[in-house]
Amino acid sequence: MHAATVSTPSTLQPLPRSRFAKWRALSLSLVYLVFGIHIAHWKITGKTMAPLELNEVMYTLELGIITAGFLFMCSLLLGSLIFGRFFCSWACHIMVLQDLCAWILRKCGLERKPLRSRLLLLIPPLTAAYMFLWPQVMRAWHDRALPTFHLATDREGWASLVTNNFWRNLPGPWIIGLTFLTCGFAIVYLLGTRTFCTYVCPYGALFGLADRFSPARIRVDQSRCRQCGSCTAVCTSGVRVHEEVQQHGMVVNSACLKDLDCVGRCPQQALHYGFGRPALLRSWRSGGRFGRVPYDFSFGEELLLAATFFVVVLIYRGLYSRIPFLLSLAFGVIGALAVVTTLRLWRRPDVSVAQLRLKQAARVLPAGKAYVVVVALLAVFTAHCGYVRYHEQRGLALTRQIQRAPYTKTAGELAPIAYAHLVSADRWGLIRNPNVQRCLLAVASRLGQYENAVAQARLLLARFPKDVAVELQLGQCLLQEQRLDEADDHFAAVIANAGGDSQQARSHLLEAHQGRAAVALMRGDFPAAAEQLAAVVSLNPALAGAHAQLGGALAELGRIEDALREFTKAGELDPNLGAAHYNRGIMLSRLGREADALAAFTDAATLMPLDPDVHNNLGLALLQAGRAHEAADHLRRAVELQPTHAAAHFNLARALQDLGDSATALRHFKLAASLDPQYQPLPQGNPAVSENP
Ligand code: SF4
Ligand code: SF4
Repeated sequence: MHAATVSTPSTLQPLPRSRFAKWRALSLSLVYLVFGIHIAHWKITGKTMAPLELNEVMYTLELGIITAGFLFMCSLLLGSLIFGRFFCSWACHIMVLQDLCAWILRKCGLERKPLRSRLLLLIPPLTAAYMFLWPQVMRAWHDRALPTFHLATDREGWASLVTNNFWRNLPGPWIIGLTFLTCGFAIVYLLGTRTFCTYVCPYGALFGLADRFSPARIRVDQSRCRQCGSCTAVCTSGVRVHEEVQQHGMVVNSACLKDLDCVGRCPQQALHYGFGRPALLRSWRSGGRFGRVPYDFSFGEELLLAATFFVVVLIYRGLYSRIPFLLSLAFGVIGALAVVTTLRLWRRPDVSVAQLRLKQAARVLPAGKAYVVVVALLAVFTAHCGYVRYHEQRGLALTRQIQRAPYTKTAGELAPIAYAHLVSADRWGLIRNPNVQRCLLAVASRLGQYENAVAQARLLLARFPKDVAVELQLGQCLLQEQRLDEADDHFAAVIANAGGDSQQARSHLLEAHQGRAAVALMRGDFPAAAEQLAAVVSLNPALAGAHAQLGGALAELGRIEDALREFTKAGELDPNLGAAHYNRGIMLSRLGREADALAAFTDAATLMPLDPDVHNNLGLALLQAGRAHEAADHLRRAVELQPTHAAAHFNLARALQDLGDSATALRHFKLAASLDPQYQPLPQGNPAVSENP
């Protein structure tokens, strides 16, 4: 491959040093200084301004939460509309690295302009469309309304402006280092100066679009310009400055980052930054991004570049839940170049990559052989990553589907498939993916494989000891395994560690109290159960089931009035909760409020028509109210539903006795006594009755 060179119309004179260079160096240094201050502020105070990450725009568009990153992006777009595409060269942290790399290469005599590819140029705009436009298209397709835009705090899980979770959207230090090395150095060395901006950055595409409408441009005083080409030579963005200013009187290319290098180094002082007509689509008339200079790749190579890029991005994006999208795009561009260069080694007599000569006069040089070995190793590594990524992606997607409706038949069918994919990803992965482990834990629980789930949870806790969600799931799995002491310890740990006031923290706390209540109920420890359930209802007073459970525990403790209050509350919160009405009836009955009990049992029987106990107690209440006919109907229903229900037979016998059907009554007395000896036949007129508590 031949390095791209800029043909200039005349011999270059030594150029004056740009007077803007030191200001730009200062501005870019300040970017990292501000980063440092921001992080230090967060570390010292525990709270700080939300990160000015541009990808938070996606969260705003998806969730409606207005973030600092979104506001920052809006202000940058507005600034680009007015002042042109200046942010990239004066304040972008990746630009700092790219220009630093270019400077180092220049010092080593390795300066090179961007390689020219027509298809790779489409990556930034297509990526921007995929990130910001495509989700909206899908939203419209699925007929989902736009979210309501609002400000949020950490309590809602994603704070707008001030957060204690500064690192919420940033990768770990290793990935940050890899991103800087790849996007700031490798890509510049292999493809030329500022190629991250040219072939990767989706934000740059948006700023470039805004730049077309901006009145601020690099403009020329035609009377001074001698077409020496110095401006083109110094432009690290690869803009054909001398041609554009001659044709349009200004730089029209939206790749111009307004770094003012050309202005500062024009020997004739012919250029200036000024306002006037916007460029709009004029750059297209000048041959587009690279002017009329030919591209560096044949059309076939371009297709191979595009196909390889696509495959590499698919493989690396989100791999091990670590590789960010932008980094995978950079890998894609580098991988595509590696494949095309390797192919050229077979087809061309002379091949170079960057300034490294691989093949000369049809002879592959040692560097070329080493290059092929490195590319082959990277291809094997990428194939392995592809295998792992496939299983990760399938396993995670299926788990999400299962979690949306966990108790459906489809979820039951999908769970073993998801589990197999997740196990493969976990077994073959070079690094353990915590998301895969979390899904393994969830799916193993869904499959009832609690032992595997417990093992997975313990592995996760060894890595993330403060992960209360995992601690909670571990407690729930141990509870299923009846390992009550261990389960209780983990629930207690969740309660101790579920700090913060976020909805998620409150949800963890609530589930942990529910877990401890379940443990206490299984142990028959009703005071402890009542205490835990009281905590549950204080965290969420709208939980009808928790009120009903608390009522049950209080009833066991003999606190009938308190139990009645909880059952009544449960019934008010969920009028369809039959058990709440039934138990309320029992409590009322114990308090001697028979008329109220009769009404409660009637409600319960409507909601639970197939429950023999409900019919027995309703029958009993009716019998005590002197409504023997109706009582007999419900009691007959009770013995139909459960022919071995001794109490129902006994009460039915009493009702029949009241109705004068002594023969049938005697048969039911005998049946009751045979089922349970405590129910002995009673002489006529005996008022004894039996309820089901
Ligand atoms: S603008 Fe200045 S540097 Fe560029 S071609 Fe004209 S004289 Fe040369
Ligand atoms: S055209 Fe001039 S201002 Fe624009 S990027 Fe090139 S050197 Fe910088």
